[in-house]
Amino acid sequence: MSDIQSIVIVGGGTAGWLAACYLQRTLGAARHAPLPITLVELPAVGTLGTEEATVPTLRGTMQALGLPETALFTDADATLTNGIRFNGWRCGGPAPDDSYDHPFDVPMPFHGFATTAHWLNLRQRGLTQQPMAQACTVQTTLFDGHLSPKLMDSPDYQAPVSYGYHLDAAKLAMLLQQTALARGVRHVPGRVARVQRGEAGIESVELSDGRRIEGSFFVDCTGSQSLLLQQALGVPWVSYAGWLPCDRAVSMPVAYAREHEPLRSFTTATAQAAGWTWEMDLQSRRGTGHVYASRFCSDDEAVHVLRQAQGTHRPLAEPRLQVLRVGHAARVWEQNCLALGAAGGFMEPLESTGLYAVEWMLKLFVDHVAPAGDSSGCRARVNRLCADHFEELRDFIVAHYALSQRRDTPFWRAATEAVLPPRLAELLALWDTKVPTPTDLDRRLSMFGTPDWTFILAGLHRLPSRGIGLSGHISPEISLKALAHVKGIRQQASQQSPTMRDYLRSLQGTVVREPARAGRLMN
Ligand SMILES: Cc1cc2nc3c(=O)[nH]c(=O)nc-3n(C[C@H](O)[C@H](O)[C@H](O)COP(=O)(O)OP(=O)(O)OC[C@H]3O[C@@H](n4cnc5c(N)ncnc54)[C@H](O)[C@@H]3O)c2cc1C
Repeated sequence: MSDIQSIVIVGGGTAGWLAACYLQRTLGAARHAPLPITLVELPAVGTLGTEEATVPTLRGTMQALGLPETALFTDADATLTNGIRFNGWRCGGPAPDDSYDHPFDVPMPFHGFATTAHWLNLRQRGLTQQPMAQACTVQTTLFDGHLSPKLMDSPDYQAPVSYGYHLDAAKLAMLLQQTALARGVRHVPGRVARVQRGEAGIESVELSDGRRIEGSFFVDCTGSQSLLLQQALGVPWVSYAGWLPCDRAVSMPVAYAREHEPLRSFTTATAQAAGWTWEMDLQSRRGTGHVYASRFCSDDEAVHVLRQAQGTHRPLAEPRLQVLRVGHAARVWEQNCLALGAAGGFMEPLESTGLYAVEWMLKLFVDHVAPAGDSSGCRARVNRLCADHFEELRDFIVAHYALSQRRDTPFWRAATEAVLPPRLAELLALWDTKVPTPTDLDRRLSMFGTPDWTFILAGLHRLPSRGIGLSGHISPEISLKALAHVKGIRQQASQQSPTMRDYLRSLQGTVVREPARAGRLMN
């Protein structure tokens, strides 16, 4: 029980509706009487929702909300993703020479060591030329075969390997909205025109038609304008623009070229002259977009680059331009207001961390809602942990640029020559002399651990040639067996796993959307 008597959420994007479901399920359920939750949002303009990729954590969150996984397939156009394939990030060369994978699964252990240790042992002895992600993980074989991480009979939210989703964000928000409304959340369509402040923070919000909505706690989910936390309470923004120069994005879905075009079970991030383009396959269409730095690329050029990347696939909508504000609020929780989603912090979507940050912050907040009384200690701790969490995410994203050998355009020269955040500089210097081990990451808040860092370092050819620690004592024969073991499981996995399309087809009756074909606009 806390001193929160009622919650008003402003904003109904994915952050707002996820917050409504989560807070109803957690804080609401912890009370004897229902906790009144109201969500106010500017009614959505009926446009095509954007395609988004998620990391695996969404599975646990959806499960905690009591939603069946099939709802994502039927209602949010979802497919499954095994991870991210990065093209052209090392030297700008054509894939597959310059391509590496960041799968969600961690390398499996063998004989007391992670297979990465075995791979390093062999690599440093000149006994393997295989890329790390192929030698050490089963999951990358699923990338190549367009295979589903789930088997036909895998239970909800489970699979032999970890996985995330590609989905329609607007449809996910709608699914969460229906869930929240069915569980008693009040929905007020309308525009918040004014915010009334008192001594304890926000007292009420006033809509443009004069209606006033009061609450004891407010959640700001108004996106990058941050109406409550920044505009009303004056909390400053900590910008990461000095480290992450990409400040704009253009997105445009395309139709599949033919009805049964294989669905890729991975997200693609291809480095471009002034940023990078993404591709992700939903059931009905392929989402594509271009994240770029306006300092080095005009909007027209950015659209042109995206059109080139789409190849012959036909666009299904006009290009949608968005300004990206990377960074986070100096304090995400101020007085009686918490900011989530783009209002609280935003990172370019290179590692699909947008929704994940909302999930993470919701869990942290609920863990720290103090019983009635002074909550300042909890608030300070949440603010500190969130700032640290965003810093960790930032450093992980910055490393993708900083470790590149590309110097071919002004953007890449700027991205690779920029002064690094101090903690990242320290880590990269360390990893020039030794391979990453879990004790290197003294703060480990984000989901990205040493296996994730190792995939990026290995993919960009930045693992040291010495310093493999204990693994140097493993006999090469054992390490050869380890890699042979992984190879065997990869073969099994590629025989047993259905293609992404076949998996979705197996859900026929419940699922499966008609793929959009050239010329047909989605609604
Ligand atoms: C180009 C791009 C690609 C992305 N890709 C990914 C991805 O692959 N994976 C991922 O996890 N995340 C991704 N993200 C992040 C993700 O889209 C969002 O940032 C995140 O989901 C949070 O959105 P939001 O709900 O905070 O904000 P928004 O979706 O902007 O929602 C803001 C809400 O506030 C409401 N509002 C605004 N003003 C008022 C007002 N005055 N009164 C009432 N209501 C108001 C609006 O109606 C709206 O409902 C991407 C973001 C961008 C820009």
